Amino acid sequence: MPKEEAPKKTAERPKKQIQLLRGMKDVLPEEQQYWDFIQDRLATIAQAYGFGLIKTPLIEETGLFVRSVGKDTDIVEKEMYTFQDKGGESVSLAPEGTASVVRAYIEHGMLSRPQPVKLFYIGPFFRYDRPQAGRYRQFYQFGFEVIGERHPVIDAQLMMLAYNFYAGAKLPVSLQVNSIGSPESRADYRKALIEYYKSRKNSLCEDCRQRLQKNPMRLLDCKVPDCQVLAQDAPQIIDHLDEESNKHFVQVLEHLDEVEIPYVLNSRLVRGLDYYTGTVFEIWPEPNAAIAPGTDGSVKQSAQSALGGGGRYDTLVETLGGQPTPAIGYAGGIERCIIELKDRAISIGAGYRPELFIAQLGALARKKALKLFEDLRQAGFKVAESFAKDGLKPQMELANKLGTKYALIIGQKEMMDGTILIRDMESGIQETVDFQKITAEVRKRLEKYGVVEKRDGKIPTPSADQAHP
Ligand code: AMP
Repeated sequence: MPKEEAPKKTAERPKKQIQLLRGMKDVLPEEQQYWDFIQDRLATIAQAYGFGLIKTPLIEETGLFVRSVGKDTDIVEKEMYTFQDKGGESVSLAPEGTASVVRAYIEHGMLSRPQPVKLFYIGPFFRYDRPQAGRYRQFYQFGFEVIGERHPVIDAQLMMLAYNFYAGAKLPVSLQVNSIGSPESRADYRKALIEYYKSRKNSLCEDCRQRLQKNPMRLLDCKVPDCQVLAQDAPQIIDHLDEESNKHFVQVLEHLDEVEIPYVLNSRLVRGLDYYTGTVFEIWPEPNAAIAPGTDGSVKQSAQSALGGGGRYDTLVETLGGQPTPAIGYAGGIERCIIELKDRAISIGAGYRPELFIAQLGALARKKALKLFEDLRQAGFKVAESFAKDGLKPQMELANKLGTKYALIIGQKEMMDGTILIRDMESGIQETVDFQKITAEVRKRLEKYGVVEKRDGKIPTPSADQAHP
């Protein structure tokens, strides 16, 4: 056996602390209630509108995004995390969800299912973008896709869903709508735009000058003030729509009027990705004059920081190798939604709050408490504990902090007597009860607060009663 080398004596240098990558974000437990709030609401909405959850991989063949999102878009040109895998294939972390959902629709032959197929997703996406408030390099989006139907009622219903998701969460938002027409009418419009901007090129920002030939419609939603001024007088797509797109758009708006969803016609709304056709829309937060910098340190968002966006992509299924199939989708950002909820101090409910605290004194009591915790939890109670603590005082302090209604205390005396103490945390009154009856005793008391009634009636036969003779 090789002789072990004695460790070299070198001066201990402090190790460099590894930090979060730029543009990334840790979600800490204190934010969890916001995520639960959003996810619960999304799951309910998805069910109500008949969407099935789909999970696609974080990583896909790079070609999927090049063909769908478009090779001349900012996302594909500058923002994708692209690398070669060990097999030499070019793969990318998904920068958005629609392309993967459409790939899955084709790959799993969903065309043979009753149409439209309604799919819902939620997950992380990646864009190597310039980090700023509300803009991360890994962020979460939820999305709703309706594939296989072209009727304008579908467009209106999806906008209604998106709008109601925010309105239901008490977030004041506006629905911005536009139509960018068929690819043919867009080609005509692009020419008109290039013509308009040609003589004004010198007033454009550097990015827009680059975009002018490749993607002139992006000039309309550039955030640079000079470019915004020029966009005001630029030709409007609505004047270049073909008859079919125009008719479709009018019907979408009629349906929205019918369900009384307010909307703003926004002729400069173009969306950044190549796959859009016809109806496009975004959800913007209403300006919030009252807010100071965000609770997470973020600076106030402008009204143009969309909470989400979507639109028709009637040619995408075919572009990705499927049959011609009309479709429409919406994707919303979760972090931006949380920023708005926090900035507007919108109540999202109390979150998880334990109602019982189990306190113990001594090694034997600790063992019994460990079992009691599990029995009560399985019986449907929300229980908290701090089993590693020895003294009663820190345990009571924690019970107080958590706002539990009762503390259940097992000390040496209770161990000997086969009893347990129930302490009302509000009044401080303590009662000794038979350990075997603990479940019924606790239940009786919690009912007083109306806490247990909400659970569907009967609590399962408590094993605690049998397990602790
Ligand atoms: P998009 O696919 O760019 O239309 O994005 C749809 C929504 O996702 C946006 O309105 C944002 O709410 C959110 N989103 C997009 N990019 C980011 C990002 N880099 N960081 C945080 N949220 C984002």
